[in-house]
Amino acid sequence: MHEFSLTQNLLDIALKNADSRRIVNVNLLIGPFSDEREESIRFYWRDLARGTLGEGAELHFQRVQAEMKCLECGATFNLEDNGSLCIYCQSNRLQLLSGDEVRLASIDVE
Ligand SMILES: [Zn+2]
Repeated sequence: MHEFSLTQNLLDIALKNADSRRIVNVNLLIGPFSDEREESIRFYWRDLARGTLGEGAELHFQRVQAEMKCLECGATFNLEDNGSLCIYCQSNRLQLLSGDEVRLASIDVE
């Protein structure tokens, strides 16, 4: 359900930026904790974009690193694949700042 409104939102932004031209590619940034979302977004896009300038557009997902905040020393940093500790003070009290969201990076139009 969340993916439905998310996709609607992405489509709205894409259409706003399309300037009445047909959208060919949609480039999205997706966090490392968003595994199941790609397929849902493609699925909803096909549905929602029907009859709009976004119909038939190709969705491209680019993975971005998760941004963490250390609750011990206050540092913010990108979490490496194999890390679960603060890279500065080795604390494990980390808060996820971003990483499970999906953002529109750019679109290509005809
Ligand atoms: Zn720290």
